[in-house]
Amino acid sequence: MKALVIGAGHNGLIASYYLRKLGLDVTVLEASHRIGGMTESAVEAKAVISRASYVLGIMPESLRREFEIPIIESEIFQTIEYDGELIPFYREPRRRREVLGKYFPKFSEFEDKLFKMKEIMSWFTFTSSPPSREKILEVAEREGVPEMVKDTSAHFLKEYLPREVHRYFIYPSMEDAPAYMVAYFYNEWSLVPSGMGTIPSLIEKKARSLGVEIKTRSKVDQIVIRNGKVTGVKVGDRELKADLVVSAISPVATFSMTEPLMDLKLDPGKGGWVKYNVVFRDGVKVRDDLKPYLQGIIDLEVGEIIMPSVLDETRGAPVLEFMGDREEVLSMFSGEILYEEKITADYALRYYHAPGGNLNHLPMRYPYLFDGRPVKGWGYRTPVKGLYLSGAGTYPGGQVTGIPGYNVALAVEEDLQQGF
Ligand SMILES: Cc1cc2nc3c(=O)[nH]c(=O)nc-3n(C[C@H](O)[C@H](O)[C@H](O)COP(=O)(O)OP(=O)(O)OC[C@H]3O[C@@H](n4cnc5c(N)ncnc54)[C@H](O)[C@@H]3O)c2cc1C
Repeated sequence: MKALVIGAGHNGLIASYYLRKLGLDVTVLEASHRIGGMTESAVEAKAVISRASYVLGIMPESLRREFEIPIIESEIFQTIEYDGELIPFYREPRRRREVLGKYFPKFSEFEDKLFKMKEIMSWFTFTSSPPSREKILEVAEREGVPEMVKDTSAHFLKEYLPREVHRYFIYPSMEDAPAYMVAYFYNEWSLVPSGMGTIPSLIEKKARSLGVEIKTRSKVDQIVIRNGKVTGVKVGDRELKADLVVSAISPVATFSMTEPLMDLKLDPGKGGWVKYNVVFRDGVKVRDDLKPYLQGIIDLEVGEIIMPSVLDETRGAPVLEFMGDREEVLSMFSGEILYEEKITADYALRYYHAPGGNLNHLPMRYPYLFDGRPVKGWGYRTPVKGLYLSGAGTYPGGQVTGIPGYNVALAVEEDLQQGF
């Protein structure tokens, strides 16, 4: 049985690996000349940068183990600025709570709620049928944290933390999203040696070793349907036949090239983000108070910054990656800049083929949460026989999680068992 996977982002690659394990003959088609999508390392001025995503935190341990993805576990994984001070989040829980508790007396209670919500979500991580909001609420009520589903992020945060630091726990544009999103983004973020591109490279290696074929420079223009069933895809004028197709790209793009789904309108939102990657000559000087914390993310009023080369010797030169105000951030560093780039939503549209430049393919808010992502009740399946969805635009959502890639294979497996 022949399966085509559209998109060699980390989710498409994970899907290809698990589909191959089901015994399918799998080919991945990637529009770009390279694999990885937004999980990419690049070499500039002889230094390695993580071009888009820069830290790993949401991918379940079991997937990380399966693909042998290493992480650099710094002592401090995040630092936030508050009232002119820098407050570190230590990986060691007791120390973290001790430090944070001095500034925010209800921090332990806050973190307990987040961890409880995370535990609940872990029960629904690997699934072929994403849970509904009602189901999650029922469990959250039973477990004593209904507010994580009922309240907005802004309302929940107000209970525990001063307004000034809310933005370090939820993007301001997402304050209306349920408090559950605060738990989604609260993680012990880690660097990956040689940048985020290490992740797709390792998955690719494993997938190829099983016999998965990966074709770059193969942009799919149309998903071919005959008599209500997928028969393949078109890459330019060429038609490639398949029994099933897994689309691991933005659902907005998938629908636009699938005749029966074209009228379905999804709103990818407007990506207002900007990321800078900067390579310095050796000897760059850093503002003294930042030095102890550069090993992890530093959330400042002017932006979120990290200097991965502090812990990762393979980077080749001092590298600074940040999302925020360029002048303000660079004023904290003095040294010669050898390379500098700025990427925006336009870049993601052009180079990662992500409609709206949305780095999560769809906004992380209603209606695109739980079983509403991307369309209520679909999960990884579609009304078109043989067409499946994966990627950041499906449950549980965006970021480098690998979960949609794994789960779509669960859905396919179930359907194969039922005679397809
Ligand atoms: C600046 C930035 C910073 C981020 N920071 C982080 C972070 O630190 N941590 C984190 O966890 N997440 C982060 N993210 C988000 C994260 O990178 C993405 O949500 C995640 O990588 C999405 O993975 P994916 O495999 O679902 O899709 P993608 O990475 O979007 O991959 C989809 C692939 O499909 C290909 N494609 C698209 N259309 C077609 C077509 N028609 N035919 C063939 N191929 C096609 C694309 O070229 C791409 O390679 C960041 C993203 C950005 C842009």
